[in-house]
Amino acid sequence: MLTSVPPLQVPEYQRLRIVITGGAGFIGSHLCDRLLADGHSVLCFDDLSTGRMDNLAACLPHPRFSFVRHDVAEEFDCEGPVAAVAHLACPASPQDYLHRPIETLRTGSLGTLNALSLAKRKGARLLYASTSESYGDPEIHPQPEGYWGHVNPVGPRAVYDESKRFGEAAAAAYRRKHGVSTGIVRIFNTYGPRMRAQDGRVVPAFITRALVDEALLLHGDGAQTRSFCHVDDLVEGLVSMLECDHAGPINLGNPEEVTMLELASLVQELTGSRAGMTRGPALEDDPSRRMPDITLAGTALAWRPTISLAEGLARTIAWFTNCQQLSGTAGRD
Ligand code: NAD
Repeated sequence: MLTSVPPLQVPEYQRLRIVITGGAGFIGSHLCDRLLADGHSVLCFDDLSTGRMDNLAACLPHPRFSFVRHDVAEEFDCEGPVAAVAHLACPASPQDYLHRPIETLRTGSLGTLNALSLAKRKGARLLYASTSESYGDPEIHPQPEGYWGHVNPVGPRAVYDESKRFGEAAAAAYRRKHGVSTGIVRIFNTYGPRMRAQDGRVVPAFITRALVDEALLLHGDGAQTRSFCHVDDLVEGLVSMLECDHAGPINLGNPEEVTMLELASLVQELTGSRAGMTRGPALEDDPSRRMPDITLAGTALAWRPTISLAEGLARTIAWFTNCQQLSGTAGRD
């Protein structure tokens, strides 16, 4: 006798409609997957400037998913109730924002005001995806949320750093002035499947070179540090922040700090690459050290990353290898 499988029981209170800006991007698409899996409806606004429809392949056929191609620097709206707006739209790799400086400023400023305005009209929670770049080249290590940062306001990276700092100020002002439940997270370097092979960020750059046995390019002496968080861990933190009323800012990142030299060696070990390393000039305004203090995320969100760098890199390498086999190139772009 066949036993019928009971329908997935999703509590009514969880069936929320959530707007995600930047949902076709690396992090945004993982968040779309997760919120749909949790039983929510997702409405994504994205102009596809750095995102790809490929990232949404699993979401697009879903009856609770809709996509609107739109530049969030222009006003946007939707019909019906919205429980939360996760505002992620913004180019995130230095290569992208250095190439699109004015668009980045418009997205960071006008785009954020438009997302806040939508949240205000809908009485929705607004999650603001800020960045560890708000700390600039930090003089304090590791960086707690109370540190105000060390940013060069006229350097080339300022279009990103300062627009994110503006976004934080705007989120705080909407909470103070209009009572919008805004929540700021400062995301530290995140990596994982769906990063673009050629987006200039160090993890895909190292992996895609190692997979074709090319030497890994180190900028400067390779002693600069970063702390890399796997995207699955980050998404857990974003969901926790969506589900509460905390104003933030809250750091979300993995405090496992590595030098670029150590990262390169680990990628070579995991891929079996023997091509060695080459050196290039140091990047302008590139922070020398970066590592989050995640004490607040632990106490306020009960969040901490669980995926080690070696495990996360192995998963990411497997994904890039699969893309390489499918397309005949190192990763999709
Ligand atoms: P991404 O470039 O992959 O995704 C950004 C998405 O936003 C893309 O789909 C892009 O098309 C879209 N977008 C950009 N400008 C837009 C506009 N004007 N209108 C509509 N859509 C627009 O980047 P990501 O790594 O997924 O980053 C997502 C968010 O997280 C960004 O806000 C970024 O600043 C933040 N963040 C990311 C990291 C990281 O390590 N990946 C670190 C800190 C902060």
